[in-house]
Amino acid sequence: MLCLGITGADIFSPGMNFVFGLACTGTALISTFRLRPELYGGSVNLKVYRWRVLTETVHELGHALGLPNCEYPGCVMYFSTWIGDTDRKGPRFCFRCGKRAGWLREVQE
Ligand SMILES: [Zn+2]
Ligand SMILES: [Zn+2]
Repeated sequence: MLCLGITGADIFSPGMNFVFGLACTGTALISTFRLRPELYGGSVNLKVYRWRVLTETVHELGHALGLPNCEYPGCVMYFSTWIGDTDRKGPRFCFRCGKRAGWLREVQE
């Protein structure tokens, strides 16, 4: 079973001044704070915001399943250093990570 937490607070981890989310086995947390377009001078845009929330949720749940970060920039498991990375990658796994995610889910069930 996977557990997901969503917070509006800006969250940090050692060595990084912010993170979009955190995860350990079975548990994930995402922060919506830096996903809002308004933060970057844009106007309120629920479509963009929801897409970012979905992307970071899939990324952290992927970690909760046991997937590592992926080096392919178009994969949801790519490590986002800024919001542009999140917007570019979107919520889809690359072929390799998708296969691994399916396999890890079977192991858990
Ligand atoms: Zn990651
Ligand atoms: Zn990947």
